[in-house]
This record gives sequence, structure tokens and C-alpha cells, in this order.
Amino acid sequence: MPRYEYRCRTCGDTFELSRPMAESSDPAACPSGHDDTVKLLSTVAVGGSASAPAPGSGGGGGCCGGGCCG
Ligand SMILES: [Zn+2]
Repeated sequence: MPRYEYRCRTCGDTFELSRPMAESSDPAACPSGHDDTVKLLSTVAVGGSASAPAPGSGGGGGCCGGGCCG
């Protein structure tokens, strides 16, 4: 899912949201709950951002399954 960057005009904070492309222009509230935000023009990098999967989440490899856990 593409990631978009927004800036809050109330507190000046910038934040990112991952949302479908169809909702990219929808209003986005900042983490502080302000609605007065604008979408920034940022380079959208799809793919390559999550190259290293986090170990230990969701199983697959590791200890269990090898016989050491019972
Ligand atoms: Zn804000």
C-alpha cells in the first residue's frame, strides 16, 4: 500500500499514512487529532521498503517445529 505524507497546519507536525491510492486525497487527521492537514508531494516508494521480515512474528523457522519445544 502506498504511503503518503501529510502536514498538520494546526500544530505543524508531519506524519505519514499508508492508505489506498483512492483515498490519498481524503482528509487525514494528524496524530494529535487535528483535521486541518494538507497532503505533501512526496516520492512514493512502493516495494523495497520491507525487505527484512521481522523474526519471531508469525512463526516460520526458529525453535518450534524443530523438536526443541516439545
Ligand atoms: Zn495537528
